Amino acid sequence: MISSITDYESTRQLAPKFAAIYLPLHKLASCFISFRNLYFYLLHSSIPALLSLLEKFLKKHKNSGLKVMAIEHPVKTSGWAARDTSGHLSPFDFSRRSTGENDVQFKVLYCGICHTDLHMIKNDWGFSHYPIVPGHEIVGVATEVGSKVKKVKVGDKVGVGCIVESCRSCEMCTEDLENYCPKMTMTYSSIHPDGTVTYGGYSDLMVVDEHFVLRWPEKLPLDAGAPLLCAGITTYSPLRHFGLDKPGTHVGVVGLGGLGHVAVKFAKAFGAKVTVISTSASKKKEAIEKFGADAFLVSTDPEQMQAAAGTMHGIIDTVSAVHPIMPLINLVKSQGKVIMVGAPNKPVELSTVALLMGRKTVSGSGIGGMKETQEMLDFAAEHNIVADVEVIKMDYVNTAMERLAKGDVRYRFVIDVGNSSLKAS
Ligand SMILES: [Zn+2]
Ligand SMILES: [Zn+2]
Repeated sequence: MISSITDYESTRQLAPKFAAIYLPLHKLASCFISFRNLYFYLLHSSIPALLSLLEKFLKKHKNSGLKVMAIEHPVKTSGWAARDTSGHLSPFDFSRRSTGENDVQFKVLYCGICHTDLHMIKNDWGFSHYPIVPGHEIVGVATEVGSKVKKVKVGDKVGVGCIVESCRSCEMCTEDLENYCPKMTMTYSSIHPDGTVTYGGYSDLMVVDEHFVLRWPEKLPLDAGAPLLCAGITTYSPLRHFGLDKPGTHVGVVGLGGLGHVAVKFAKAFGAKVTVISTSASKKKEAIEKFGADAFLVSTDPEQMQAAAGTMHGIIDTVSAVHPIMPLINLVKSQGKVIMVGAPNKPVELSTVALLMGRKTVSGSGIGGMKETQEMLDFAAEHNIVADVEVIKMDYVNTAMERLAKGDVRYRFVIDVGNSSLKAS
């Protein structure tokens, strides 16, 4: 009856407590099973044959403590989803939960396209759940708030980034580092504690617990500000945490893309001296004249790289393609830090001698906690920091993904969700 357990291991990586069983009608339904619970959700309407199959399955396993919960949510939602590894996005109707007492429901106005979205729709990392509604740089306006919500009221502008839930009680959560909570729930293609799969901001409506909703500063543009919710906090957080946020520090930024150009803007706003390090000499003019970088290094030029050896306090490495990091370690001073915020899909090569001679650090950093994300938005509003964006309509999204794959965007696509038709034409 349950004909294939196709993706058990990869799903375990996504959510270790769960295993996924795809039924023969896997496009319509999936089951998530933990040792004690069976979470069943229908992605479309009830299908009697499928329900009867599941009933039989549950009867068979009635002594194992399995139970059923979370069948379709009540609030109809339209979005665009990828159905398979082709990554092609097309209209998709689904549902969201009704607004709980701590929830904020909001109409999505803009959503940035992050490189992660491209990886996820193509299952590059092996843990994508289809259908996927991507999008984790989401801004909109609150349409309904629960009775206990204090942070925002109906009509307020709000933002949601990469996280929509965490355990709220672990060491990380109590230190405002929900992004490092082992039970953190991502905004899309992740399993919410209620047992349902999360869907992101390529959709007309979101419902999110207020703890994970950001207040949108009045001065911050909605479209160009949207990418700050991922690209912004991903670069702001390590600059702050590693002490690269002061005048007198010399910060290197590797890669001048979606993350890199925002990193330059934040580092400059902190008063640091900024050097952009890139393989493309063609980006020098823009780095210096447009974003205010103080210097530019072509990483493939050994002479330039050697001349700058030991001059930087820290480097934010935003490149997600495989690349050597030893030349970057050579650029930092003793006790300097190389912080990787991109995610190359192969291990990096590292000489420990290069680290211990100078007590240097190579570290990683991933997005930021909710408190720091709010601080980042407020800082960006105060210092007029936004991303450089190309605003598109939803029906251009597949072309945008192709262009993003080729690096053909200066520097971030943002979907004008509020003015797009999300229905099938
Ligand atoms: Zn992102
Ligand atoms: Zn936690």
